[in-house]
Amino acid sequence: MSETVHNVDPGEINKFEKLAARWWDPKSEFKPLHDINPLRLDYIEARAGQQGLKGKQVLDVGCGGGLLTEAMATHGAIVTGIDMGKAPLNVARLHQHESGLEIDYRQVTAEQLAEQQPDSYDVVTCLEMLEHVPDPAGVIHACAQLLKDDGQLFLSTINRNPKAWLFAVIGAEYLLNILPKGTHEYSKFIRPSEMESWARASDLQLTDLTGMSYNPLTREYSLGTDVSVNYLASFRKA
Ligand code: SAH
Repeated sequence: MSETVHNVDPGEINKFEKLAARWWDPKSEFKPLHDINPLRLDYIEARAGQQGLKGKQVLDVGCGGGLLTEAMATHGAIVTGIDMGKAPLNVARLHQHESGLEIDYRQVTAEQLAEQQPDSYDVVTCLEMLEHVPDPAGVIHACAQLLKDDGQLFLSTINRNPKAWLFAVIGAEYLLNILPKGTHEYSKFIRPSEMESWARASDLQLTDLTGMSYNPLTREYSLGTDVSVNYLASFRKA
C-alpha cells in the first residue's frame, strides 16, 4: 500500500498478500478456512432472517479470496466483498468467473464504505478479520453503520485466554503446522465480553454466541457451546 489508511495494519495485509495465490487450495495454509466454511455458512443462513440469505443485500468485510463470499452468493445473496489486500481481491475476482457468480469486489475499508453508503445492507459478515486490525471496535462501529435497521451482523474471531493461546497459536502454528508461524498475535485476540460491549456501544444487540472447536484427533471442526477458542457471534441492529 502506498499510503497509510486508517485502521489497517500493513504488516497484516502483507501476510495475506503473500499467500493469496493458494487461497482456493484446500490443502494450503487456508485449509482451516475451507474446513469451517460450510459450518459458518449454515450458521449465517439459519440466522439471516426469513428465507435465509436469498435476495439479501450482503457485505463481506475482509473477504480475502472469497470463500465465504462465494458461498453466500451461491445461496442467492447479492454480495459485495471488501478487503484491503490487492492479491486476495484479484484471486477472488478470478475465481468468481470460474464459479459463474456475480460479486462486487472492492478495495475499501468498512469505515470508508460506511461514510459512502450507510444503512445499505441486510447482512454484514466480518469473519476471521478482527484479530488482524489495530482497532476492532472501529470496524464493528462501521459494520453497524453499514447495516439497515434490524439488519444482522455476523462476527468471528479468537478468544483471549491461556487455552486459546495454547490451541490457536502453539497448537495450530507450532505443533500441528496448520497455520504459518506468526499468523496470529495473542494480544489481538478478543474476549466475547469485549466484542459485546463494543457492539452494544454501536447499538448492536447480541443475539447468539456459538463456539467453533477443532478436534485434533478427528481433524474436524464443529459448532457448540465451547467459546473458549474460536467463536461466532450474531448481532441485530436495534
Ligand atoms: N473473511 C475471510 C478471510 C479471513 S483472512 C474468511 O474468513 O474466509 C483476513 C482477511 O482480512 C485478509 O484477506 C486481509 O487482507 C483482510 N484484512 C485485514 N485487515 C483488514 C482491514 N482493515 N480492512 C479490510 N480487510 C482487512
